[in-house]
Amino acid sequence: MTSADHRQLSCCLTFDFDAMSLWIGSFGSNNPSTISRGEFGAVALPRILRLLRKHDIRATFFIPGHTLYAYPDLARRIGDEGHELGHHGWVHENPADFDRDGERRNLDRGLEAFERVVGERPGGYRSPSWDFSPNTIELLLEYQFVYDSSCMGNDFHPYYLRKGDEWSATEPYVFGEITDLVEAPVTWGLDDFPAFEFVSGRGRGLSAPSAVEEIWRGDFDYAYENCSGGIYNLTMHPQVIGRGHRMLMLERLIGHFRSRDGVVFETLGSYVRRWKTDNPVNQWKAANRIYVGPDTKSG
Ligand SMILES: [Zn+2]
Repeated sequence: MTSADHRQLSCCLTFDFDAMSLWIGSFGSNNPSTISRGEFGAVALPRILRLLRKHDIRATFFIPGHTLYAYPDLARRIGDEGHELGHHGWVHENPADFDRDGERRNLDRGLEAFERVVGERPGGYRSPSWDFSPNTIELLLEYQFVYDSSCMGNDFHPYYLRKGDEWSATEPYVFGEITDLVEAPVTWGLDDFPAFEFVSGRGRGLSAPSAVEEIWRGDFDYAYENCSGGIYNLTMHPQVIGRGHRMLMLERLIGHFRSRDGVVFETLGSYVRRWKTDNPVNQWKAANRIYVGPDTKSG
C-alpha cells in the first residue's frame, strides 16, 4: 500500500441547509424577522461552495424538502458541484411529534421534493435536530436508506444501528437486533449551532471562533492519532458558519486538517459505502456487536 492509499482519517464536512425551515419547524416561529435568519443560509451557501471548490473538497449537504422548494437552483448547484445531498425531513419537524404514519408522510414529502427538484433519491438521512422517534430506525430501513447521521453511540467510527431496543427507568436496558443501517455518528461538540447561534432563552451562543476552533481541532488531533480508519464528521449550517469570522475559522481548520498525511476529504456517502464493504453486517450480527468500535477488536 502506498502512502497515497493510506487513509488515516476521513474528514467529512457536512452542512445542514435548513434555511427558513429550521425556524418554522423546530422553533415554531411565526415571526418574519426570526424566519429571515434562515434566508441568510442562501446568502452564505455560495460562499461555502466557493471555499469547498478552492480546496477541492466534496462535502455532504442535508436539505429539508421545504428548503429544496424554496431554493431549487441552489440545491441543484450543490449537486452539480459534486457534493452529496441527503434527506433532512420535510420542514425541520421533530419526528417524535408524529405517529408512524405522520413520520412516514414527512419522509415522503422530503423524497418528493428531491424527486421534483434534483431528480434523485438520497441514500443518506439526517433527522432534523438529530431527533428520532421510537419508529425512526424501522422507517429508515423501510425506506432503504443506506446510512443515517443523527446518533451519538460512537465518536469517530461508524456502527450498525439496532431496532427493537427496550428501555424504561425501572428495568435493565435491552439491546435489540442489529440492522444493516449504518450510523455515521455526530456530536454536539462538533456542531456549529449550539456554540455560535444566539437563540433567546436557549443559552448564550455567539462564541469566539477561537474557542470552537480549539474544540474542533482537539477532536481532530485525537481522532487522527487514535482512531485510524475513522471518520471526522463535522456538522455545520450555512446560516451559522457563513458569518465572516467563522468562515475564516473554517478555512484555518481545513488548512490544519490538510496538513496531516493520510487525511482525505470525502462525502459521508462515499465513506459509508466503503466502510460497509469492509465491515459486513453479518459479521457484526454473528458477533452480536452491540458495543461498537475497533477498541473491542484490539481488546
Ligand atoms: Zn437541520
